Amino acid sequence: MSRKPRLLIIEDEIAIRTGLIDVFIYHGYDVDFSGHGTEGLQKALSGKFDLILLDVMLPGLNGYEILKRIREQDREQAVIMLTAKSNDEDIIAGLTLGADDYVAKPFSVAQLVLRVQAVLRRSSGPGSGAEQQTWLMGADLQIDSQNLCARRGEIDIAFTRREMDILHYLRRHAERPVSREELLHKVWGYAHSEDLETRTVDIHIAKLRRKIETDPAEPKYLLTVRSAGYRLLTSSP
Ligand code: CA
Repeated sequence: MSRKPRLLIIEDEIAIRTGLIDVFIYHGYDVDFSGHGTEGLQKALSGKFDLILLDVMLPGLNGYEILKRIREQDREQAVIMLTAKSNDEDIIAGLTLGADDYVAKPFSVAQLVLRVQAVLRRSSGPGSGAEQQTWLMGADLQIDSQNLCARRGEIDIAFTRREMDILHYLRRHAERPVSREELLHKVWGYAHSEDLETRTVDIHIAKLRRKIETDPAEPKYLLTVRSAGYRLLTSSP
């Protein structure tokens, strides 16, 4: 993008917030911020930000509520949650509500900058929407990747941009299993050298299964291949 990328930081801890603002301004971002949930939500819903960094515990309104409201309005908005390191529930809840990724506190600022850059590359670059079409999975699931939705019979299913990109990538490589690392590299845009956590991928896969499988516990399309990753079958066996 030729203009400066616009970043919104919603974080109530002043030391963390100030540090993030400085670092991202230094890296050429146009930064806005809020230390309060209600005000943060208002700014988030303005739609002017390329990416939102969202803390969980906030005065006024917590990060999950904010994320839920963002996703009701916009399934393309890039959001990275800032979670507490020890708290798995935070991580799972944030990803389930539709965050693109999370970074656990205390985090390395250098790593956070890399992730933000990667997520922005993916959300503005090719691959996110370049190959839009509708296609059929199995006999009854009609996927519309441009509009981030699917239809099975009378039921409409909504996807986030990230979920649709995962589905696309797996479909393009349907002849083989795809590893978590490959998904992080190709769909999230992270460098191989980064010390990556893989829960982000697993939780996104679990969400996708709840959407595309008739029985998510016995997947027929999105399969786990032991010690190799995930494989998508576009027609049921
Ligand atoms: Ca906080």
